[in-house]
Amino acid sequence: MKIEVIKGDITKINTDAIVNAANSSLLGGGGVDGAIHRAGGPQILEDCRAIRNRQGKCNTGEAVVTTAGNLSAQYVIHTVGPVWNDDKEKSSKLLLDCYKNSLLLAENLGVKTIAFPNISTGIYKFPKELAAEIAVDEVRKFQSDIIEKVIFVCFDEENEEIYKKLLNPPL
Ligand code: ADP
Repeated sequence: MKIEVIKGDITKINTDAIVNAANSSLLGGGGVDGAIHRAGGPQILEDCRAIRNRQGKCNTGEAVVTTAGNLSAQYVIHTVGPVWNDDKEKSSKLLLDCYKNSLLLAENLGVKTIAFPNISTGIYKFPKELAAEIAVDEVRKFQSDIIEKVIFVCFDEENEEIYKKLLNPPL
């Protein structure tokens, strides 16, 4: 699996699936969630409502899939990151679950290319360095014959630098 880092807006990325850092209501929010719903249009929210009616809220660490409305991706995978708190171990495990469950779902859908935002590092206040280590570790560990490329889409320069350092450590 190839791993890339890009600085930019995930709604503009051309992958089979993009991942949304949603909240458990699945009914939209701020940050990347708001951006995805704005750019993708009302179909995504309609799909989220249908999921809610079927299974209720989405628990932290879990992932669900919808269509991608007007976005160029085929799917949006919505995963609910943990709100950072002092239980570092519990928060870390839940963040790891977000990446793992999103990748498993993507694989089941036959997704070849997938883009992740830096889940939980905005409104949910997860420390950026630790979040990046968890994300990179989990993606590196994930063995797939189906997914060919994972792109980490960093919205801010700080995350971009952290990811670049983790993926291309200086000799
Ligand atoms: P969370 O509630 O999981 O912290 P946020 O959306 O607040 O979710 O932030 C998650 C990450 O997504 C942050 O690093 C934030 O800077 C980033 N982000 C915000 N908007 C976008 C966007 N359009 N594309 C990619 N990343 C974004």
